[in-house]
Amino acid sequence: MRILLVSIFLLVKGISGIPLLKSLSYSNPNLMQLRDEVSQNIERWRNHKPIFLKWRKYRIRKGDNFFKVMAKTNLNHETIASVNRLASYWDLKPGDVWIIPNMRGIARYGKKADLAKTFRTSIASIFPVPGQKGLYFIPGMRFEKLERKFLSGQAFIRPVSGRLSSNYGIRKDPFTKKSEFHRGIDIACPLGSKVKAAASGRVIFTGWKSGYGYTVILEHSAGYRTLYGHLKKILVKKGQKVKQGNVIALSGKSGKATGPHLHFEVLRKGRRIKPHFVG
Ligand SMILES: [Zn+2]
Repeated sequence: MRILLVSIFLLVKGISGIPLLKSLSYSNPNLMQLRDEVSQNIERWRNHKPIFLKWRKYRIRKGDNFFKVMAKTNLNHETIASVNRLASYWDLKPGDVWIIPNMRGIARYGKKADLAKTFRTSIASIFPVPGQKGLYFIPGMRFEKLERKFLSGQAFIRPVSGRLSSNYGIRKDPFTKKSEFHRGIDIACPLGSKVKAAASGRVIFTGWKSGYGYTVILEHSAGYRTLYGHLKKILVKKGQKVKQGNVIALSGKSGKATGPHLHFEVLRKGRRIKPHFVG
């Protein structure tokens, strides 16, 4: 039954025909083969020769982390993060299946012709990412500095100083005592503490939000948003541009809050992710 479910899952994902990289051990000849292919393709790309793109898949094991997979496969941050549409370097859990190309590059959604124009390359050198409709792999390309910063959490500063009173992830709901998914982090701080923009951006929401109380949402580049909840006073207007560190509100305990704190969320393309900060 389990095998059946797994194969249905892979079929749905459209990666059933891709060979599985069984382990990241250097004694695995398939891993060494992959590492060689990556080096050869990089060399070919540098010499303006066509590359031979192949895909493998790898099932994340307990103890694996992003950097381990990256280093062992001879790839770089953006290759693994973008083909697998990861929100951050911490976006993995055992059992996740990642796809691994044998060339460095980045994946982007769009039309082939538009992507070719954007990246000043030929349509023939843009490849569909298996299992992801509309996602294409552009060999040899790298993320812009800003996108790398977001991915590593280096783009955000702490919006308020204080103690982390509740982390992102599964926790006991302070009201119902039932397990729930905490979609952000809570930073305990005295009522009226200055809440700062975690990164530069534009205000896209101010007002009351059910559960969150008085809330501000900022939009940043690269599809990122930050949310600030349980506020006492909002000091910005919708549409306003803010710089990182600008005071946007005063903290409070409005909405569903047991005590004074800031509830802070990071969203990437609509998906909530675990917040990480500089330092
Ligand atoms: Zn919270």
